[in-house]
Amino acid sequence: MYAIKVELKLNNKERTLMRKHSGYARFVYNYGLALTQGLYASGVKASIAKQINEVKKVFTGYTKKQPENQWMNKLSSRVYQQAFMDLGQAYQRWFKGLSRKPVFKSRKSGDSFTVYDGNGKVLTTSGKEIKIPTLGTFRLKETLLCRYVTQTFTISRQANKWYVCFAVDADRIPPTYHPEEAVGIDLGVKCFATLSDGSQIEAPLPYKQAKTKLGKEQWRNRNKQFGNGRQGIKQSNRAKRFFDSLAKKHARMVNQRQDFLHKTTTEISRKFYRIRIEDLNVSGMAHSRKLSAAISDLGFYEFRRQLTYKSEFFRTKVEVVDRWYPSSKKCSICGNRHDNLKLYDRIYQCQNKSCLAHTITMDRDLNAAYNLLNAPMDFVRQAQPEITLVDKK
Ligand SMILES: [Zn+2]
Repeated sequence: MYAIKVELKLNNKERTLMRKHSGYARFVYNYGLALTQGLYASGVKASIAKQINEVKKVFTGYTKKQPENQWMNKLSSRVYQQAFMDLGQAYQRWFKGLSRKPVFKSRKSGDSFTVYDGNGKVLTTSGKEIKIPTLGTFRLKETLLCRYVTQTFTISRQANKWYVCFAVDADRIPPTYHPEEAVGIDLGVKCFATLSDGSQIEAPLPYKQAKTKLGKEQWRNRNKQFGNGRQGIKQSNRAKRFFDSLAKKHARMVNQRQDFLHKTTTEISRKFYRIRIEDLNVSGMAHSRKLSAAISDLGFYEFRRQLTYKSEFFRTKVEVVDRWYPSSKKCSICGNRHDNLKLYDRIYQCQNKSCLAHTITMDRDLNAAYNLLNAPMDFVRQAQPEITLVDKK
């Protein structure tokens, strides 16, 4: 099972519809949470599933029929059903110690809702449109290349963009043939990745520029009236506009980086069977805060995470070379150790005068990539997929 997420191309009317449904889902979730909390306070001992079931009955039999709640009848009933299910799951996660106690959702927690087709699985059409059960047909920004069987659709907003995500009930057939046997990858600040086959991958430049620009903008707007709910101070219009544009730019930057990392890791996983990377230890690697910020910005951790989780799909072997292994100091030809190598030395020149790398100098990162590729087995371990309780967005 895997998920597909595509951007929707909405007009204003459709956007309003999506916002209304998000509001509806939020309302129902909070409604259910308030009532179950009330039940708990009055000493009801029934299981949470039973409680939610009762709450649901009150909602459909009474609350939904009130004249002030007529607006709900114009919206998809699948949304409230899913919202109750989400609440149940939030409670279950809490009981299992996987997350914190369910809290009320506010508008600030973002817009998202899920439509679950209770009638069974549906087949989407290929092309630039998607039919979401009970909501209608919407245009897409990109083309769906084939038809998918699915049952749940999650619609969410990120800054000003709306996405639909659906889980596909199938396995992708992995390409198990790899044209190349093995590769060592050196990650760096100057050049994002240097591969032992001599190729280099540069991080997208616009990302770096955008980040600097964003920081400046935040600084310039530091005196805006951001508002304070407790003190009853309203947010100024300019501050609101500023935040909207900030969110947009932020989302764009994150997308750019994510896009770059996904493309790179997929390409590498397709090409090579055995992938060796250095263990990441930012604190050990750089004492300078600037450098470590650059490293985390570039997404080294994310790079490794993606390679590791894609290994199952592409049937690759991702290996981590111990950080005590002197991959950058060692000469990849004669094995001589160059202890005076500075961080800013971009070129590796072997100190051993009879070595080939003494006369013909090498790119420092390429030398490191070779070393990673040929690291002895006692320095190498298999990369483990990280277990995160709540997957970061
Ligand atoms: Zn040498």
